Amino acid sequence: MKNRIQILPENLANQIAAGEVVERPASVVKELIENSLDASASEVFVEIEKGGKTLIKVTDNGFGMKKDDAFLCLERHATSKVSSAEDLFALHTMGFRGEALPAIASVTRLRLTTRSIDDEAGWQIYAEGGTIRQADAVGVAPGTVVEVRNLFFNTPGRRKFLRKDETEFGHIADVVSRLALSRPDIHFRLSHNGRNVLEAYRHNRLEERAAAMLGRNVATDLLTVEADSGNGEMLVGLLGTPGISRSSTNNIYTYINGRYVRDRVVQHAILEAYRSLLEKRRYPIAVLFIDMPPETVDVNVHPTKHEVRFRNQQQVHDFIVTSLRDRLQQVSFEPARVSSAFQPSSFSPPPVASAPQTPEQRVYRERVQESLSAFNEKVASAPTIAAVSTVKGEIDGWSSGRQETRQLPEGWRLIGQYLNSYLLCQADDELVLIDQHAAHERIGFERLRKQLAADGIESQALLFPTVLELEHREASVLAEHLDDFARFGFEVEAFGGRSFTVKSVPALVADIDVERLVRDLAAELNEIGRAAQLDNEIERVLAVLACHSMVRANQALSQSEMQQLLHDLAEIEFGSCCPHGRPIMHRLSKREVEKLFHRG
Ligand code: ADP
Ligand code: MG
Repeated sequence: MKNRIQILPENLANQIAAGEVVERPASVVKELIENSLDASASEVFVEIEKGGKTLIKVTDNGFGMKKDDAFLCLERHATSKVSSAEDLFALHTMGFRGEALPAIASVTRLRLTTRSIDDEAGWQIYAEGGTIRQADAVGVAPGTVVEVRNLFFNTPGRRKFLRKDETEFGHIADVVSRLALSRPDIHFRLSHNGRNVLEAYRHNRLEERAAAMLGRNVATDLLTVEADSGNGEMLVGLLGTPGISRSSTNNIYTYINGRYVRDRVVQHAILEAYRSLLEKRRYPIAVLFIDMPPETVDVNVHPTKHEVRFRNQQQVHDFIVTSLRDRLQQVSFEPARVSSAFQPSSFSPPPVASAPQTPEQRVYRERVQESLSAFNEKVASAPTIAAVSTVKGEIDGWSSGRQETRQLPEGWRLIGQYLNSYLLCQADDELVLIDQHAAHERIGFERLRKQLAADGIESQALLFPTVLELEHREASVLAEHLDDFARFGFEVEAFGGRSFTVKSVPALVADIDVERLVRDLAAELNEIGRAAQLDNEIERVLAVLACHSMVRANQALSQSEMQQLLHDLAEIEFGSCCPHGRPIMHRLSKREVEKLFHRG
């Protein structure tokens, strides 16, 4: 009888390892760049074709490999970085398992070209599915080039799971961004289908790298933070002011001992520090480097190494919360909602506080002043202001002071507004409280739904097209979903690189923050992915739009505005919830009110 247990053939073992290491093109990119960093490169150039499905090429100017190492590194568990168990606990390199290259080689056609700085010539090795087919001495500059073609060519089952080029490239851009943010001292370049998407030159300061990666406009709203727990934990980084929040946690970059992590404890601590500063479901921008003695953190929990385990979880958590909170409390910011394409009249700058200003507040104010005067100039020179005010009237509909008084639903009487946020009404003998923001969202949502079902969402041209500079990830999502955006009433054009011009927005959208709207929608579409064809997914998109379309809480309403709101509400199904599931109204029966006063 044949033995049941068999040693797996080398290539098969590597393919299985590839299942862990090589999830998608982005994981290949990550492993290759980390190897370049481990080789002390100061330049790392990444070329991608078709989302990494046809080509991933990483070129570095690191110390390269000698001939024997070049052959050896394609074999399993060949690593120059760990030779004893102790080494595992004192890691200063990114890689250490010695399984990345063989795993990658086993599912691709790989060409490794490398020359050690000590050698006169280099070596070029070509392997297919992990089997070396050819090797030659070549004349090249010191450093290493790894070219990976036809990912999963020999495992069609896995190839099927790759997503659209743009999506895969989005993941690659994420990986490169994470690494580039952690190493301002290294020149990174990333191209897709021959087009340069990212160029981050060498810098001494994180702030400069952050500006290159996150956009200049964001960079002005970042605070530096630095703290020492006195117990071995240290923290440095950049914190976004609450005014530049995002709709997902994608812009929280955290590193433990130089390694990018997406850890639950760290994430929780950051959100905790921002709690009460941000609205619900808004998330900060943050780039944080947390260092601690290597023996107090286990980075080897997960094969893709994004999770860690702390020896003293609570201590790390609390250290992050206190350091961030302290820093955030030193400055109080007003929300940075200054850009507008709708407002027909001039803005005046926010009143200048008499209290002494911190440098951040000064910078912030200058920025506000700058964009306001630029904006006011634009408005002054615009020939079509009248047109805009009509537009504004139509957009706001009920809130733009229509004169005629609206009929209230049968049996309803408006009592007034409470705290500028709730309407109080009498409906027959009930007392009704209405959350004006929730009600408005619901109305906007229903209108959008109707429009979409009829001839599509009504679109409104912006007087001044807004140019957005997005992050790589957002840019690739937007590029992928331009059709969807059009369907939802936007006219967006790619403007080169990560820039887009927004020319039209849904007519119902009264929110002046076009940038935030587009970003939120891109995030939503990204999450939904291809399922955007399904009805309930479309509702998620409409909910995002509706949220931007309507008045917020804390807004005084005139009598006729309140009546219009009730009228509009009556036209849609009464008693429903806002698109986010919060109730719109609360009813107190006569009996309930009487009970409060021990009557009846
Ligand atoms: P690990 O990084 O975990 O050691 P890898 O499979 O990623 O394992 O790489 C195997 C070995 O190949 C590394 O330990 C290193 O010695 C060598 N190597 C890989 N890429 C490079 C590179 N870009 N420059 C120099 N040496 C490299
Ligand atoms: Mg490695």
